[in-house]
Amino acid sequence: MALQAISREAVAGCVSLGVVFVAGYYLGRRKPTMSISKSHCGGQTDPLMQYLLKHSLREHPVLKKLRERTMEHSLNVMMVACEQSQFMVNLAKLIKAKKVVEVGVYTGYNTLNMALALPDDGVIVACDISEEYTNVGKPFWKEAGVEQKIDLRLQPALKTLDDLLAAGEGETFDFIFIDADKTGYDNYYERSLQLLRKGGVIAIDNVLWGGSVLNPKDDDTIAIDKLNKKLLRDTRISLSMLPVGDGVTLAIKL
Ligand code: CA
Repeated sequence: MALQAISREAVAGCVSLGVVFVAGYYLGRRKPTMSISKSHCGGQTDPLMQYLLKHSLREHPVLKKLRERTMEHSLNVMMVACEQSQFMVNLAKLIKAKKVVEVGVYTGYNTLNMALALPDDGVIVACDISEEYTNVGKPFWKEAGVEQKIDLRLQPALKTLDDLLAAGEGETFDFIFIDADKTGYDNYYERSLQLLRKGGVIAIDNVLWGGSVLNPKDDDTIAIDKLNKKLLRDTRISLSMLPVGDGVTLAIKL
């Protein structure tokens, strides 16, 4: 993920969420009707979020260790929320996923969670450009005994997706998670639709972008908002947009 996207996510994920709601409260004189946050970014002081975690989070011991290791990292806001990751893994189980793609790995928390859930002959193609960040996760993938299920490809994700299509793997993937540079989302989505089998699921992260989609101004927010509008009209999929983490859209290929 580009550094620009990293800092943007940090800002959007933690700062503007609060700004939007606080400004909305004081300027609009009305109480916010929907509040969302990641458990590790804004959710630490939310009693209801803590209740949710206490009553639903189940983490493999090595996965917990990787989360704690990631929390030591300065850009940990980029980590997918543990509750969102668990939800996506359950979705993958529900559709008996064997072949998964992850566009944007960071330290590989979700990669490990997904790999732990995949059957022995399952694979997750993990796309990222940062050796530094993915190296944080690698020892944990090994410790958990699932590294053989993780096919890490360190190059621009679009190239990896095109490589998979060129290798004849179109319409063979079950689940694809898109969580990388936002201006690249539309291209990732189009390639993902080609890679996905009918009934497969694409999960798209940060679709609410800390609330800034209400007033898109910068390139990242405009790209997210444009894709959100496109998905609503897209007859190739059915969809749900969920207030989980920073907003996640599920697109099911028809
Ligand atoms: Ca994200």
